Parts: sequence; structure tokens; C-alpha cells
Amino acid sequence: MRLPIAERVRSIQQSDIRRYSAICAAMGGVNLSQGVCDQPAPAQVKDAACRAIAADHATYTNLRGIAELRSAIARKMRDFNGIECDPETEVCVTVGAAGAFACAALATLNPGDECITFSPFYSYHVNLVQVIGGKVVYVDLHPPDWTFDPAALEAACTDRTRMIVINTPANPTGKVFSAAELKQIAALAVRRNLWLVTDEIYEYITYDKPHVSVGSFPAARERTLTISGASKTYAVTGWRVGYVVGNADLISRLAVLNDLFYICAPAPLQHALLAGLALPEEYYTRMRADYRRKREVLVDTLRAIGFAPYVPEGSYYLLAAYPKGRWSSARAAAEAILEQVGVATVPGSAFYRNPADGDRQLRFCFAKKSADLQEACARLRRLATGTCQPVPSRGNA
Ligand code: GLN
Repeated sequence: MRLPIAERVRSIQQSDIRRYSAICAAMGGVNLSQGVCDQPAPAQVKDAACRAIAADHATYTNLRGIAELRSAIARKMRDFNGIECDPETEVCVTVGAAGAFACAALATLNPGDECITFSPFYSYHVNLVQVIGGKVVYVDLHPPDWTFDPAALEAACTDRTRMIVINTPANPTGKVFSAAELKQIAALAVRRNLWLVTDEIYEYITYDKPHVSVGSFPAARERTLTISGASKTYAVTGWRVGYVVGNADLISRLAVLNDLFYICAPAPLQHALLAGLALPEEYYTRMRADYRRKREVLVDTLRAIGFAPYVPEGSYYLLAAYPKGRWSSARAAAEAILEQVGVATVPGSAFYRNPADGDRQLRFCFAKKSADLQEACARLRRLATGTCQPVPSRGNA
């Protein structure tokens, strides 16, 4: 007799992001699929983590996170995001941005409530809303510049809509929402009395357009939950330290959810994020310059082998169309590239409301050490010349 399992996990599946990453690790390929960001973290951040462990910062913290970190987050939110917040009541430190998003969705959505998401989307946003019984309603972003039709956004709203999810800079498109776009979204949210949940984990990784936080608009302030964290900015994706900022009433409820699920974010790593937030401006300038170089290297490589990349305005991903007729689907392309040259990507179909819309595309991550990105690009170039060797093992990369 089969043991009973919950309805909500009957059709749950490992994400394509993780699937291709796992196959890649097993075969020793170069992983441009999952955005693991396997680059060295800043010494100040690592040292602070080590010091915090040595100093026995090992016990539960306040359920909203340590007070010094919340104060530092409030300063950063004011100076970088343009959002004034009270560190005592309007900030909660979470287990990564994913933990923040889970608590935010649970605190705002009842089963059956609708949540608007732009497509292409980050699949974890969609899947999480669905797991808790919410209904995702999509609004398309149109390539090449990933604009949306405000009328389509308006039309997506129903009496059950409770929330609009924003992800800027966006995964997987690299879209950086403009102030004008965010104002339109905010105006709609005010008109329809909706929450805005904005995942800004790539906020420091922008190339040409500035990052704008919708929560900085006075009209949107009380209805916006702004999420970010340490993962991408300090290259510590496995540390799982994030945070969410929003109105005191909702944050107090969300903090209790955070406590129920996780108790608190890892204590020593909260001290490490505190050190990260103290890094000087040059750190961010250098990081952006480094990503800009890596973006160019990957874009040049993809163009040289006949792909058509959509050059991202931010984040460390890009979507690229593979040459027409070369493969029958995005999955076939991802599998062939992994098998022939040992480079993992994610099929574009994993990011679209209508998977067929992404079936000519692959997502590439360029948050890699330079040598690994060069190696990946050298391998990708073999796709053009047809000199595909059996993949040499690189160990368990
Ligand atoms: N955000 C990263 C990505 O999109 C990885 C997160 C994850 O593994 N889900 O690849």
C-alpha cells in the first residue's frame, strides 16, 4: 500500500536549473546552468564568518536577525535603494532571498489567491506560489528588450489578485526595470490594492541602467516587500543569508513565519553579511566591471558560434537563441551541448509560461572564475567547428 503524500507535492519536480547542474557535476563539465556563483568571496566577509564562529556566535539569534545587521541593512536600504526603514520593526533577516520570498508569499496569499508574475520568470517564484496554493497569472515580457504591455498587466488583474512579483535585475532575462515601468506597476498596485514583492538579489549587478527599487516610491512604500541578500553580491550562494524590508505589520507576521520555518538565519553568517555591508564602494565598482567583462566574453563567444544572445542589462545570466534548425528543442540543445562539449546550460523552456516560447533558447550563467568561463567558451567554440571531443573529466566541479 502506498503511503499517503500531500496533494501539493504530487507533481513537484526538481528544477531544470538544478537538474542540468547535477548532470554537469557528475560528468565533470563546466557549469553555466545553475547560478552557483563559484567565485571567491571577499576576504573581509570570509574573515568575519571565521571570527564569528571562533567567538561562539553559535546560538539562535533574534527571530528577525541580529540587531547590528538590521541596522546595517537599514542604512544600506536608505543609501543604495532609497528606502527609509526602521531596523527594529521593518527588517527581517531570512534564510536567503528564497526564504524571504517563501515567507512573503505565505504572509500575503491565501489558497486560490492570484499572483502576477512576468514571463520569462524565475521558476522558484512560480513554484513556491503554486506549492502554497496560489495561482500564478503571467504577463509576457517581449524580447529583445523584455518590455511588457501595461494593458496586459492591467488585464491580468482580477478580484483574486493579491500580489505582483517583480524581479529586477531579472533572472533569466537580465532585464533591469526602469523607473517608468516600476511607476506604472506601482500605480496599478495602488489602484487595485495589491502587494508588490520585489526580489532584488542582483541589485548590484547592473551594466548600463541604474537599479531602481519600487519601494523607494512613496506611493508604493507601504505595499512593497523588498528582498535581497548576501548570495550574489558577495558570492556566497550557499550561505543562505537574505533579508526582507517592508511595513511593520506585515514584517512582524512574516518574522514569525521565518521563526516557524527556520528559527533564524545562520548566526555566524549574519555577522559575515554585516562585514559585507561595510565594504567600500570600490568593491561594487570592481565587481560590476568584472561581470561586464565576463558578459562580453560570453556574448562574443555565442555570437561567434551562431547563437543570438539577448545582452542582459543586469544580473549574471543571459538568454540566447541557438541557430535555427540545429536542435529540435531547448532540451535537446542543452543535452547535446552538455554531451558534446561538457558545458551545462538551462533550457529556455524552463522559464516561460508557454514553454514553447523558450524552446529556441538556452540560459547561460557567467558568474564563473575567469579561467572557468574561458574554458567554457573554448568548449562552446568547438560546437561551431564540429571538433567535439569526448568530454575530459575535470573532477567534481
Ligand atoms: N538563482 C540561481 C539560478 O537561477 C540558483 C538558485 C537555485 O539553485 N535555485 O540558477
